[in-house]
Amino acid sequence: MLKDTIIAVSTPWGYGGLGIVRLSGEKALAVAKKIFLPRGKRQKIPPRQPILGCLQDLDGQERYEEAMLTYFPAPKSYTAEDVIEISCHGSPVILEEAVRQGILAGARHAQPGEFTLRAYLNGRIDILQAEAINDIIHAVSLTQAKISFQQMDGRLSRKINKLRDQIIHILSQTEASMEFPDEGLRISPKTIARTLERAVLSVQKLIDSYDVGKTLSEGITIAIAGKTNVGKSTLFNALLDQERAIVTPFPGTTRDYLEESIKIKDAFFTLIDMAGWENTTHPIEKEGIRRGKTLSASADGMLLLFDSSHPLTPEDTALIKKYRQKKIILVFNKIDLPRKMDIVRVQKMAPSLPRIEISALKGTYVEKLKNMLSRLFAKEDEIRDEIILHLRQKLLLEEILSALKKGIQVLQAGFSEEIFIEEIRSALPLMGQLTGEIRADDVLEDIFSRFCIGK
Ligand code: GDP
Repeated sequence: MLKDTIIAVSTPWGYGGLGIVRLSGEKALAVAKKIFLPRGKRQKIPPRQPILGCLQDLDGQERYEEAMLTYFPAPKSYTAEDVIEISCHGSPVILEEAVRQGILAGARHAQPGEFTLRAYLNGRIDILQAEAINDIIHAVSLTQAKISFQQMDGRLSRKINKLRDQIIHILSQTEASMEFPDEGLRISPKTIARTLERAVLSVQKLIDSYDVGKTLSEGITIAIAGKTNVGKSTLFNALLDQERAIVTPFPGTTRDYLEESIKIKDAFFTLIDMAGWENTTHPIEKEGIRRGKTLSASADGMLLLFDSSHPLTPEDTALIKKYRQKKIILVFNKIDLPRKMDIVRVQKMAPSLPRIEISALKGTYVEKLKNMLSRLFAKEDEIRDEIILHLRQKLLLEEILSALKKGIQVLQAGFSEEIFIEEIRSALPLMGQLTGEIRADDVLEDIFSRFCIGK
């Protein structure tokens, strides 16, 4: 399969100033020469230097577009194979014709992610780097893109490899001292335990970073809750800065829940406007409320709204009791109207919760609320070294952690070196799976099927 030469449009489908067709494989240059005619009919195509020419059909009878071609000879290319990039106008008709001609000339249409898969199979990048490339393309914020960029550069891989080297060193030292007990090679259990404990700490740190990574890549979900008519939809719109939810003065107009995403600073928030919480008999509404409740239960945080122009009701109180253990912000709305609510009483019921007074209708302190959301949930200050973004990585790291911890226990309990070696050695294949050094076809399938065609 690696012998095939593949071709695909690498830019997204649609009309644009530029579009790129990419080829990779042994016959890339030969195929390109059939579908592209260099200006002045020059025979030699220089490496890594764009040349101007025309796209033509196979028999050279007809030209249909002006284009630039760049040739990247193996192994210094994206896939480590011969790669050709042809850029022309971003016209779907032309790009598809170029691919069609390329296939007639002997190339095969690429599968999703196949260019990157080849880069991996040819050893130019590891799996962590391949995942990072896709993460850059799909990044929802610049912060996430920057983290993925560092991983694409191999920072996370280097960390894992360093860890693996330390384990191998411990293993070889221990084995040597078992084989030649008289030669003074014995490495003290204390030194081993210290190295392992450091390794445990750095693996744990990576595992912990997954939560930050997840909010970075998936955004932060915030449910807007409160009883009917407190101004949830109005606040939802004020935060979104648009008329997304239908606002009426009649209770219970938001029949289902609404979901919309906004960016606050560099973080991506998904806001969920909950339907009224009162009992309904209508089956569709019931379903909407049930779905809404499930969503809000799994949300990262909640804005619990109150209408400060009305006295506190038992319904409000019930909501505070229900949610005060969660990550919520108490929002007292309608401060443009005379206050009737005993806010101090509410605060006493949940003294540790952050709170704010706003007018969603007039937009008063809505920006302040946004800043509060960003401060409480975006946690940009937690973005330190490496952040992992994938559950696959987290699960493997957890297994590595448990192997290392068992190793320490066995060592401290004074078990034989054989048992210790066995425990620690079990971390090595897990590290291999993490970086992709050990190849598992189902994992590859899962990772690369998420790529787009042409990448
Ligand atoms: P929901 O049922 O909680 O979604 O409430 P809505 O957003 O539909 O608002 C109910 C009513 O309260 C509407 O008439 C809004 O215009 C009004 N409202 C919402 N926020 C404010 C506010 O800050 N001040 C005032 N005076 N009215 C508001």
